Amino acid sequence: MECAARGSGTPCAPGPPTRRCGNCGAVAYCSLSHQMSHWNDHKDECPRLQQQMRRADALNDFPFSFTVESTLLGGVRCSFLDSIGLHRTGIWRSECCCAPSVMQSNNPGIDGEFGDWSLASTLCPCTEPRSPISTYLSGWKDYYQWRSLPLDSPVAILLHWPLTIYHCFQLSSVQTLTKEVSDKLHIHYLGPDKELHQLAVFGELKALFPGIQLHIELIGPAVPKFRDGEEASLCCYLPCSDESCLCKSYKELYDGGCEGKSSTVTLKLRKGFYHERVRDILKDSCPHLIVAPNAGVAAYASWLPTIELIKEMGIPAVFTDFCEEAAHLAAGCISSVTRSPLRLPIQINPFRQPLVMEDSALYLPCYSNCFIFGM
Ligand SMILES: [Zn+2]
Ligand SMILES: [Zn+2]
Ligand SMILES: [Zn+2]
Ligand SMILES: [Zn+2]
Ligand SMILES: [Zn+2]
Repeated sequence: MECAARGSGTPCAPGPPTRRCGNCGAVAYCSLSHQMSHWNDHKDECPRLQQQMRRADALNDFPFSFTVESTLLGGVRCSFLDSIGLHRTGIWRSECCCAPSVMQSNNPGIDGEFGDWSLASTLCPCTEPRSPISTYLSGWKDYYQWRSLPLDSPVAILLHWPLTIYHCFQLSSVQTLTKEVSDKLHIHYLGPDKELHQLAVFGELKALFPGIQLHIELIGPAVPKFRDGEEASLCCYLPCSDESCLCKSYKELYDGGCEGKSSTVTLKLRKGFYHERVRDILKDSCPHLIVAPNAGVAAYASWLPTIELIKEMGIPAVFTDFCEEAAHLAAGCISSVTRSPLRLPIQINPFRQPLVMEDSALYLPCYSNCFIFGM
């Protein structure tokens, strides 16, 4: 956490900022003088942040047995992952930043590097669901029940990616738009980042969209140059670590290729900004839905031309962000382009990642894929 007045005049007093704003409690200062000098900047946002802080309990509410530990503000992601035996392990490696080499390592592809969940078969969805998805899943509890997972399974920490896509699809009006969607669905996924190292968990989309050929184009500046154009078919679920589990025989069966499977998920990676790559991409794939997870619309000016483009295309687009204030600022940017209110108002994502993030500027609860909104 840093002093909210940092960089706005005199240097900060040494040490962590300990003076919290008495109204909102969302910002902190190094000294009384910085708190006073910052009030002119802060006074407009203060009541709004106060409202947002009131929703902290709702945001920290998850059905898991590890909720207390995983939502503890100031708790470190490393020590939580360590406590469940998954710290710097396999596909979980990019969940904390103490192993920076993972982001630069030459990843041999979506299936290659991280072979399994590093979990026993009872703790992860490594095979077909026992029953096809029938009713609408309203949150993690529904999902765990449907997939017969115990509430101490940590898989939600990675499965928030595919479940958020599922939820965005449910919220958007795409389902009613075209009949074609009933067997083919194209999604353009903007700004992938660390999920580029976790794409094997997108295999779960197979269970979430049964009987549908789902194609996702992942476009963003964080796609490494050597992966530009990389394609993958995910016809198998990420296997568990039990040698004798059924999922091992599936894997052998399909290692020859995914052709002929009724529901497959195909992914294609593209490096660059959407508005720069869109002409190429549209030759291959015309989207029914655009999703932009953890977008940071207000933080990156490069979103503005992309939002202009989405407006012209007229395709429903759903964004997520880490905290409510980021979503609020993003909504302002989007409305300034569309000149109309959000089509999908800001709301809590029931499938946000159940592992708290540290926000460097605010005490607001902060989770990956926390808030959803759309144009
Ligand atoms: Zn200061
Ligand atoms: Zn305040
Ligand atoms: Zn760590
Ligand atoms: Zn396969
Ligand atoms: Zn298994």
